[in-house]
Amino acid sequence: MLEVSNLNKYYGKNHAVNELNFTVDSGEILCLLGANGAGKTTTLNMLLGFVKPDSGRAILDGIDMYHQRTECREQMMYIPENVHLYPSFTAVENISYLAELAGVKVIQSDIKDVLLRTGITEAQLERKIGSFSKGMRQKVAIAFALLKHAKLVLMDEPTSGLDPVATQEFIEVVNTIKQRGTAVLIVTHDLLCAHQLADQIGIMSQRKLKQLIKNDDLTLPDLTEQYFEQFS
Ligand code: ATP
Repeated sequence: MLEVSNLNKYYGKNHAVNELNFTVDSGEILCLLGANGAGKTTTLNMLLGFVKPDSGRAILDGIDMYHQRTECREQMMYIPENVHLYPSFTAVENISYLAELAGVKVIQSDIKDVLLRTGITEAQLERKIGSFSKGMRQKVAIAFALLKHAKLVLMDEPTSGLDPVATQEFIEVVNTIKQRGTAVLIVTHDLLCAHQLADQIGIMSQRKLKQLIKNDDLTLPDLTEQYFEQFS
């Protein structure tokens, strides 16, 4: 679904992302880990079109992410560390508004349905978002990704500041979008979350993707060891 090949970004003489290559299939989750300054945010920003790469390609389901930006934007959803929604709108009103902005045709019952599927309760549907926790706002954003049938969801530090229960709920919700065939790319420092959620784990160090590990039989201590090996 997502193919990234030979992606490079320089900030002056600083080679911020060096020859990045990876793929994320439909229904697959890739978690990118790495120290501060490893190049994770720059990678995300290049995929989002916020930052122009100096070379390389990113293709989303056959669409060139740099030359067909509008088409590409329609197919993807970005969930930042802190999801910004309209605090005086309810969850339903927020999704309705986001859908209108994105030109997605929806009916009220579909909005309620996707929100309930992400774990928002009936009682919370009509509550103003201003009273929602970070985890609940993430659920609303994920509900919109479901409604939009996003082919790719990009997330930045989704579990930072979430308590263990909210983190577990987040993992369950992301698995819902995975089951729908969405490709998911998560930038995180949370090894436990990456271990529980990812199909592939990428470890970035010194602006390169040093390791791309299949998460099939990997134990958490193995992952931790491999992670620290990159920085020793
Ligand atoms: P963190 O975990 O702290 O968010 P990161 O892995 O996301 O770090 P990046 O923010 O992508 O790392 O930074 C990669 C390199 O690019 C660093 O050397 C950083 O200083 C540099 N860099 C990032 N953004 C800019 C910018 N706008 N201008 C100049 N240099 C930048």
